[in-house]
Amino acid sequence: MKRLPITFWTGAFVALVCVAMVVLEASRSWGARTALLDQAERSATNLAHAMSEHADDTLRTADTCLFDLEERIETDGIGPAQLERLHRLMVDDARRLPQIDVISHYDERGNWVVNSQATKVRNINIADREYFVRHMQVADAGTYIGLPVISRASGRWIIPMTRRIDKPDGSFGGVVMAAVDMGYLSRFSGRFDVGRNGAIGLLSDRGVLLLRQPYSARSIGADVRSSQLFQAYQRGGRVAGTGTFVSPQDGQLRLNSYRPVENYPLFVTAALSREDIMARWRHDTLGRSAAVLVLTALLALFGNRLVRQMRRRLQVEAELRQTRDALATLNATLEKLALQDGLTGLANRRQFDVSLGNEFSRAMRQGAPLALAMIDVDHFKAYNDRYGHAAGDDCLRAVTEAVRLQTPRRAGDLAARYGGEELAVLLPNTDGEGALAVAERIRAAVENLALEHAGSPLGIVTISAGVATLVPRRGADHASTLLEAADRALYAAKAAGRNRVMRHGDTATPG
Ligand code: GH3
Ligand code: MG
Ligand code: MG
Repeated sequence: MKRLPITFWTGAFVALVCVAMVVLEASRSWGARTALLDQAERSATNLAHAMSEHADDTLRTADTCLFDLEERIETDGIGPAQLERLHRLMVDDARRLPQIDVISHYDERGNWVVNSQATKVRNINIADREYFVRHMQVADAGTYIGLPVISRASGRWIIPMTRRIDKPDGSFGGVVMAAVDMGYLSRFSGRFDVGRNGAIGLLSDRGVLLLRQPYSARSIGADVRSSQLFQAYQRGGRVAGTGTFVSPQDGQLRLNSYRPVENYPLFVTAALSREDIMARWRHDTLGRSAAVLVLTALLALFGNRLVRQMRRRLQVEAELRQTRDALATLNATLEKLALQDGLTGLANRRQFDVSLGNEFSRAMRQGAPLALAMIDVDHFKAYNDRYGHAAGDDCLRAVTEAVRLQTPRRAGDLAARYGGEELAVLLPNTDGEGALAVAERIRAAVENLALEHAGSPLGIVTISAGVATLVPRRGADHASTLLEAADRALYAAKAAGRNRVMRHGDTATPG
């Protein structure tokens, strides 16, 4: 598989970090939203609980009075003396119970009989009231909670709590009513903070809105049977619950918690505006998200720059490498083409071969002698082994320098490094004697350097040389003839004990 470049991985890493940041922030803010909604739901539930208990208490105490009054009227009747006592009792009850606006008794035709007010208003008739009609028609013994009305006695909004009075013969004898002051309930619910758009409601199980906080006269008595809240409550079957519903009163989406009032066919709802909850969350999230987005954008920007710079650098590096390789190849070629040996500074083998060929042809043309001395350092392997290769190189340079100094400066003369520690000296127009003299001078010069060589029997660095001379004949001789002859002479010098010069044709004699 192709390896992907580092710029790819860097880009991928930066992208990953960016995505991770955005995802983490999104999940955090989603978590915060859920927590906020949970918290709101708990608040609404607690509120509904408090409201329902309060409503229950309020109605129950009023109910006790009603029950007592009903019994008195039914057993004692309503003679003048009894009426006086009833009045005092009603005044007393109404004063004792702050939730009660007026307590009244109306006869079977709906006419006022007695109430808790100090001034007696005798011309009130309530025969048209919904609760009156119901009591007239249905002879049950319970307390009835009617629809909210404006009291004809006090002019205030009330919730009528009524009980039927039975005459001794069982026929309808009117009603006794405790008018629950809506203002009282409203003040209680008003103590809770439900936010700017929250609401608290008291509703009857028949789907009538009795009370709403914030107060709105239009809402009192409203039919809410078709609302999502009422339908959820009805489906549940008089149990507490929560849900998010659109209010038919103002069209707001609210988180509702509803709960039945324990002993009465009523239920309360505490509703917090989703808009209120979400506004807080949005405000929070918007600030944070903006910061994260800016950070992410910066990261992406710098990451992109970094990757571009890396790419440029890698490109430059690749170009540099290419240039270097090209240079190396060029150097190698140049070295091959060069005529000088790198280590010793003498002519190299290449130049030697060219010169030998040229000089050989010239000698043949001129019928002149051509001499060649082959030189080899004695026991040089042992030198390397003992003193190391670097010291071997130094030694070789010193020997070469001595050879150069002893080589006559005549046109065509050439000292070359033939290979390894083997040198060759080409001497045009030189006869056997002359060549021998040059070689001997070289040998002596090296010996005189007196370079320590513990690996050699002589204790110093020495050389051996083989000399050959030839007047080349056309068709018969070849440059290699001269080389081979000199080589053989060198071999003979080695065989004869080293540190000596031998001429081709000489016999090897130990020196
Ligand atoms: P002999 O007296 O028979 O010539 O013995 P020798 O050890 O010199 O034998 P030979 O000439 O065969 O060995 C050549 C050795 O010279 C082999 C190699 O280790 C060493 N040599 C060749 N070229 C170089 C060089 O450029 N530098 C160094 N330091 N050593 C070299
Ligand atoms: Mg040698
Ligand atoms: Mg050698």
